[in-house]
Amino acid sequence: MKAVEFRDVTVEYENRIALEDVSFGIERGEFIGIVGSNGSGKTTLLKTILGLVEPAKGEVFILGMDVRTHLKEIREKIGYVPQKTRINPKMPVLVKEVVLMGRYGKIGLFRSPRQKDMEIVKKALEEVDMYDLKDEPFGHLSGGQQQRVYLARALAQESEIMLLDEPTTGLDVSSQRSIIELIARLKEEKDLTVLFVTHDVNSIARVSDRVMYLKNRIVAFGTLEEVCKEEVLRNVYDVPVQVLRSDGMPCVIVSDYHVH
Ligand code: ADP
Repeated sequence: MKAVEFRDVTVEYENRIALEDVSFGIERGEFIGIVGSNGSGKTTLLKTILGLVEPAKGEVFILGMDVRTHLKEIREKIGYVPQKTRINPKMPVLVKEVVLMGRYGKIGLFRSPRQKDMEIVKKALEEVDMYDLKDEPFGHLSGGQQQRVYLARALAQESEIMLLDEPTTGLDVSSQRSIIELIARLKEEKDLTVLFVTHDVNSIARVSDRVMYLKNRIVAFGTLEEVCKEEVLRNVYDVPVQVLRSDGMPCVIVSDYHVH
């Protein structure tokens, strides 16, 4: 059984096609990088997995369940880490409360959390190394710390599949690296399936099992060695691309968009 399977999926908004004839399968336990420029359908792909948009055509199965008929069960299996969001620093929600939100699907909104939920929250915060800041207002944390807390929220949900939508965009390079390494480590420890959306394939080169290049269709899907070739990437970006090697890995250099 695949963790995620798309069969000939087309998603349209009004008359704009966001995804066209997309078919692929992701095995359980894989780390998949999803790469493409703005508007290439990356967020739409995640929304389709979560059942937030309905395909005009095709079928989507998550852990063998059809999204059209098993949405509630599917959502319980999926943790979602959003893009770095600007949170009002005065927003009074505490770090531990953000993580507890990951338990709502299991607790139900109107019941009180039990000891077990609180223990799961504690463990999730420890796993992302944020337990010491549990009583801080969420809005006081740095961008990198906030992303760690969102990761803890997804862990507290005890999900099997983790969707991350550009979780490191806007963070400094060392915070980016430490979050990506953390996600890769948690993936190994918990046998998670990870779909990681990014603009920057180089940032996930070391941790991804396969990379999917999107341009409203799948342009390429394979290991880094298979897809990071100039003749493949020429079809992905509309600007010149060079593939170099660094530390034995392909490294993609995309020309500066502003040069033209
Ligand atoms: P990405 O995440 O790669 O930037 P998206 O999945 O957000 O791409 O968008 C894919 C295409 O669908 C884009 O052309 C975008 O303008 C369009 N689109 C996305 N969301 C909507 C929406 N809610 N209504 C209309 N068009 C949308």
